[in-house]
Amino acid sequence: MSSLAMDAPILTVHDLNKQFGDGCIRCAGGADRRLEKNYCPACGTVYSCQNLSFELYPGEVLGVVGESGSGKSTLMRALYFDQQVTSGEAYLSCYKDGLSNLFAQSSQQQRYIRNHLMGMVYQNPLAGLRMGFSSIGNIAEKMIAAGNRNVAAMETRGSDLLERVHIPLYRRKEAPKNFSGGMQQRVQIAKAMSNNPPILLLDEVTTGLDLSVQANVLDLIKHLQRELGISMLLVSHDLGVIRMMADRTLVMLDGKVVEQGLTDQILEDPQHAYTQQLVHSLL
Ligand code: ADP
Ligand code: MG
Repeated sequence: MSSLAMDAPILTVHDLNKQFGDGCIRCAGGADRRLEKNYCPACGTVYSCQNLSFELYPGEVLGVVGESGSGKSTLMRALYFDQQVTSGEAYLSCYKDGLSNLFAQSSQQQRYIRNHLMGMVYQNPLAGLRMGFSSIGNIAEKMIAAGNRNVAAMETRGSDLLERVHIPLYRRKEAPKNFSGGMQQRVQIAKAMSNNPPILLLDEVTTGLDLSVQANVLDLIKHLQRELGISMLLVSHDLGVIRMMADRTLVMLDGKVVEQGLTDQILEDPQHAYTQQLVHSLL
């Protein structure tokens, strides 16, 4: 903890809100709005992320755990600019000295941030890969988006990345649609890392994989994280995955962070009733 606390955060998120729908008199009341879970029964507005605030520190893995529908993917899509936030701020220490709200940037600047400063690995490989392109072509696409034009250099870098994620080099021209689920996720990871981003966003990357494959992919992520010191925001509904991977953890419920702290501490002494239930179901 002390070594983490000495560094400035690489990512700071402040009061991130994302709602679907315009709200009504009943639900417009901010923090004390009356909802059923994240949903206003009067007007149908969904409050997917409510006042999320947290920091990600250099070289740390921050876990985000919560049941299905708690807003984890919405948070990730917001940070990767797949979806516009309703309100809120986010700052990257490596972008404009950490002084400019990412959500207030032009779409061109947001594209720059996506391509240079962040990598995303989606739960569904269809969202992150072109299944008909070659694997190395998928990686090259991301490098081209970041301004690379040197084909030979991209070929070398792409091969190196595929090797790192244990895709045999002789399969680099093959399309991900021919690959197993675990291999597809490894191609996604290689693609996400292609421009050496300081931050990786990982959304349920092993959900749906066989247990042995899951362990294998998590192991790879952990290895890359240690070797390259990448900061990671890692989402899972599975506290077992979080326990294995995350230094610190946010617990989400109905669009809110209900608890955050060191993963070990949360597991040993969960404070919120929902977290207690999660921890007990793990035992
Ligand atoms: P999680 O990833 O934790 O399972 P999501 O972020 O996918 O949760 O969803 C959070 C909530 O937001 C859910 O109630 C979901 O139905 C709602 N939601 C997500 N996307 C949309 C959308 N495009 N329109 C309306 N509601 C949405
Ligand atoms: Mg999700």
